[in-house]
Amino acid sequence: MRRWNGWGDEEDREELGAELLAFLREHIGPGRPREDLSLAQALAAVPPPRLPTSTRFSQDSELRLRHARGQSFADYLALRSGDPGPLAEAVALPGTHEETAEALAEAGRLGAIVIAYGGGTSVAGQLQVPRGERPVLNISLARMNRLLGIDERAQLARFGAGTPGPQIEAQLRGYRALLGHFPQSYRHSTLGGWVMTRASGQQSLRYGSIGQLFEGGRLITPGGELSFGGTPAAGSGPDLRELLLGSQGRLGLLTEVSVRIRGLPEHEDFHAVFFPDWENALEAARSIAQAELPLSMLRLSNELETETRMRRSGHAQSIKWLQRYLGMRGVGGGQCMMLFGASGSLAGVRRMRREALALAKRWQGVHVGKLIGQSWRKNRFRSPLLRNALWEQGYAADCVASTVNWPAATGLMRAVERAAREALAAMGERVHVCTHLSQVGRQGCSLCTSLVWPLQAEREADLALWQRLRLATAEATHAHGGSLSHQQAPAPGGDEFGLRLLRAAAAALDPGQMMNPGKLF
Ligand SMILES: Cc1cc2nc3c(=O)[nH]c(=O)nc-3n(C[C@H](O)[C@H](O)[C@H](O)COP(=O)(O)OP(=O)(O)OC[C@H]3O[C@@H](n4cnc5c(N)ncnc54)[C@H](O)[C@@H]3O)c2cc1C
Repeated sequence: MRRWNGWGDEEDREELGAELLAFLREHIGPGRPREDLSLAQALAAVPPPRLPTSTRFSQDSELRLRHARGQSFADYLALRSGDPGPLAEAVALPGTHEETAEALAEAGRLGAIVIAYGGGTSVAGQLQVPRGERPVLNISLARMNRLLGIDERAQLARFGAGTPGPQIEAQLRGYRALLGHFPQSYRHSTLGGWVMTRASGQQSLRYGSIGQLFEGGRLITPGGELSFGGTPAAGSGPDLRELLLGSQGRLGLLTEVSVRIRGLPEHEDFHAVFFPDWENALEAARSIAQAELPLSMLRLSNELETETRMRRSGHAQSIKWLQRYLGMRGVGGGQCMMLFGASGSLAGVRRMRREALALAKRWQGVHVGKLIGQSWRKNRFRSPLLRNALWEQGYAADCVASTVNWPAATGLMRAVERAAREALAAMGERVHVCTHLSQVGRQGCSLCTSLVWPLQAEREADLALWQRLRLATAEATHAHGGSLSHQQAPAPGGDEFGLRLLRAAAAALDPGQMMNPGKLF
């Protein structure tokens, strides 16, 4: 059962560990644990629905509460405080395309706004129910979680749009195939959600972004139905799939998604390389990306993230030996850790590893083998659980993700980290701030800056502090040539003409403005 007010399932736990906790206390002061409101208390405050009962929508209070928010910091804070804000009046859980169409038609008759709900992992506030006179209904795709068809020769598979990551790969494994889309939210996010948020995966370097994997599907809109795909590319004219990618449920409900799959790799390896400083490490990452080695992932931690990861590892003795070895090889304080992965045939993986390590060596990289990489692979979907563990110790956590061209990456990273520190210093607080780079390409990369700070005495103060952090880091990102990911609204100074085009598309598909109006465009 999913946790109602945090990440993961009820039984999933991740401990911070004594060393990391001591490190945080030293860096940003002691945490200030706060009592959460219980599910029972939150349920007692759920207002009665404002709509008549219906066979297609459930008015069950717990179901409504569980669909109230996503996973942004504001969502997390709202749920932990037991005050999720406005709720949808009811939730539909259709099992087929036809049932989804019926639910949408009924919502239309009721004059309601509809918010599509995939895995509920949105960090951009798109699932938040707006306040207002107009009733809101959730349509959850959770029951549409099956493989609907597979064409092994064309390497295509069609799934219900609500299928979460693990169920996609489990169902494909029987055909010795894989999709290969692994966002960090993989355990709970869904195929439809990935398309609607243009999600990126940890191994997109090899398997492609969701934009490349999304082959087609079926979309139900208030204005009619659309089918996409069926051929390798749009024969003529613009490709409507592009319009859907990242549209956050504003244009309609995606019920079925066809994706490009491939055979399971014969072999997969993950390696760790340490660099003496960030500058060398970044140049190594850039050279590897621009050499276009068909690696499956590359992730580079900056100085403080490397140190934080070492302290969290829980293997003090092994880390001591590792540091002794690195010291002998000229890698000491200020070190940065790179992980890279290679997937494919055994010979191909060996060749990629050789070439990547040769490039890393040019930038003073020291290869330390596969152990750290294997452990990353094993635990890669568990790190979001740390947010729960931090909260229990009285700390808040969030991250800021952006994309940037290579030449601006270091400046942007330092500016965002500085902006976060200064914003909190102005409020008399300290923040633990560290960054990693991933999603590398020839032009640039993504940066993900993690922020941890002590909780305040009450929710309003936490929210004010978080908003200050968001504003400061967003300004620094835009001022240094970056583009923020996971935004609720377009970037300031965005293309107004482009937005008008998108609004015109929405008006054609959704003339009554039913589909999550007011979000994104
Ligand atoms: C811990 C954590 C790690 C994350 N890691 C990554 C990452 O590595 N890469 C990344 O890109 N993102 C990441 N995210 C963000 C989030 O997981 C992605 O945006 C994901 O694609 C959302 O999928 P979902 O199924 O949860 O969609 P939801 O959160 O349920 O919905 C997202 C949006 O899509 C709409 N929507 C969902 N399904 C449909 C549908 N079938 N039809 C129409 N509209 C629909 C919703 O209305 C909403 O606007 C992370 C989030 C968390 C909390």
